[in-house]
Amino acid sequence: MTSSTPQHGGKKPSSAPSKAPVNAPPAPSNFLRHVIENDLENGTYAQRQWGGSPGDAAHHKAGMHDPAKVRMRFPPEPNGYLHLGHAKSIWLNFELAKEYGGVCHLRFDDTNPEKEEQEYVDSIRDAVQWLGYETYLADRPSAPGTMQPHEYFASNYFDFMYRAAEYLIETGLAYVDEQTPEEMRANRGDFGKPGIDSPFRARTPAENIARFREMRDGKLDDGAAILRAKIDMASPNINMRDPALYRIRRATHHNTGDKWCIYPMYTFAHPIEDALEQITHSICTLEFEDQRPFYDWLLDRLAEGGLIASPHPRQYEFARLNVTHVVTSKRKLRELVEGGHVDGWDDPRMPTLAGLRRRGYTPDALKLFCERSGVTKSGGWIDYASLEAALRDTLDPIAPRAMAVLDPVKLVITNWDALMGEGFLDECSAPINPHDPEAGRRHFKLGRDVWIERNDYEEVQPKGFFRLFPGNKVRLKYGHVIECTGGTKDANGKLVEVQALLVPDTKSGTPGADAIKVKGNITWVAVADALQAEVRLYERLFAAEKPGSGELLDELNKESLVTCAAFVEPSLAGAALGGAGFQFERHGYFVKDRSKPQSLSVLVNRTATLKDLRAK
Ligand code: ATP
Ligand code: MG
Repeated sequence: MTSSTPQHGGKKPSSAPSKAPVNAPPAPSNFLRHVIENDLENGTYAQRQWGGSPGDAAHHKAGMHDPAKVRMRFPPEPNGYLHLGHAKSIWLNFELAKEYGGVCHLRFDDTNPEKEEQEYVDSIRDAVQWLGYETYLADRPSAPGTMQPHEYFASNYFDFMYRAAEYLIETGLAYVDEQTPEEMRANRGDFGKPGIDSPFRARTPAENIARFREMRDGKLDDGAAILRAKIDMASPNINMRDPALYRIRRATHHNTGDKWCIYPMYTFAHPIEDALEQITHSICTLEFEDQRPFYDWLLDRLAEGGLIASPHPRQYEFARLNVTHVVTSKRKLRELVEGGHVDGWDDPRMPTLAGLRRRGYTPDALKLFCERSGVTKSGGWIDYASLEAALRDTLDPIAPRAMAVLDPVKLVITNWDALMGEGFLDECSAPINPHDPEAGRRHFKLGRDVWIERNDYEEVQPKGFFRLFPGNKVRLKYGHVIECTGGTKDANGKLVEVQALLVPDTKSGTPGADAIKVKGNITWVAVADALQAEVRLYERLFAAEKPGSGELLDELNKESLVTCAAFVEPSLAGAALGGAGFQFERHGYFVKDRSKPQSLSVLVNRTATLKDLRAK
């Protein structure tokens, strides 16, 4: 057993909410709200229109969204399962859209054919819906009342992206570069050194179009050429030194199959995706700040050509979420899955949304955590403890209670048969949730033999210990008072049984209950009606406080999973799998796992302990 050892029986479990209550006042305003409010006030996007000749933007124009609406997007690349960092982005985009009466698109940013898979698309859709964000909203001005699914795939815009590339070539703003990758790298320069123009930079538009079409038609080998924007090789911003727009890559795409052997680069594709969907505010993390000039450059050029509407979307950056003891990188998480270091993407220790869900995290807990973590322009690390605090604060008011004995030893009430009758089982009950009397009561039995926690007994009383030791009286919570008479150990000195005497007429809820004052109050389950359970005591997956910088496997917590053979209250039999789970009194929040082996009555995962045991 690790940190799960029960707290002193005499004390109430500390389920008191931490500082910020669930129904805290609305989150303080953040800089994004100011931007959005400003745009709404000025009608920035309500005046959106196409300039120049509309060209082939016509069909996108036909799908014109309501221009007065705030339109956000969450654009994951389907190359892994979503993690806690994504929850922040989902929460931010969908909540802001909702707050301002707008919509948020779920867009699969699937422009990289090699790493993307249908499994990931499905898992992402699942995670967004689980968080409670609806991507189906009534928002089709041409047919009021119809439901338009706001789910999009970047790969559906490949045709448009290709035409946008040709447009740039025709206007002298892009060229096919056939330097070797090494030459390109060397000629890009660095922070202190301007880049050098490629010898291919002076090609005419006609030459470039012909060569680009050869790229498209499979006449060139992978890596033999790229299409680059023609901007400024001496720009102090390296991202503006003729960034790559298209590369040759013979790979089967999950959506477009083998139709293409050239694929757009993320920096080229992403602004176009935003523009075609008429996104108003494109929110990303701070790493993309240096890309913003290219985002604007590209969309300004396409708007001038009438390919997209104007004003075009704008990019805004906020600090990514970093949580101590958590890795938020799909690539690193994939390493753990593929290396077999965890039991799949949804291992309850994984910081994926699928893992957090199996661990017992609820959408409300995650949203509260996102809200408390704030939206700022400067990064930092959020303590893992605040993730658990958000969980406790949301679960305490709603989680049904139950008793569980995680490290069981048998207690025999030696005068039970004489006082109560042989084989008699006394009916006891307890509130399902003390904060919610309407939830009713749960029922269980007390008999001669009960399971108690091994560490609730001591042969000799340690200082400050008020539970079982010879001569001491304690209450079996919700049951009777007993007086301990001793314990039996085996040849190895291991405790195998504890004995006690029932103190008559002391049952909870009866007039005699208060006749005897006891300092200890212990949890238990009767041998007669307990369910056998496997309990998984999960700990942090990473021992390192700020994992991700060193060797990933060395940063793992070797004791992130301890399993115990426990006994739990019979009410667990009917409990639903997953959901908000329940609170085992004295032990913490737990959830029933869906992957129950046949031989077991119950398999439960510990979501979190009752209080932060590390804070001490
Ligand atoms: P990863 O490195 O894990 O793949 P990513 O940013 O490359 O992360 P995407 O699928 O591109 O993954 O992310 C989709 C969205 O989620 C992006 O807008 C990205 O900015 C946002 N996002 C990813 N990680 C975080 C984080 N830790 N905090 C806030 N937002 C994040
Ligand atoms: Mg990415």
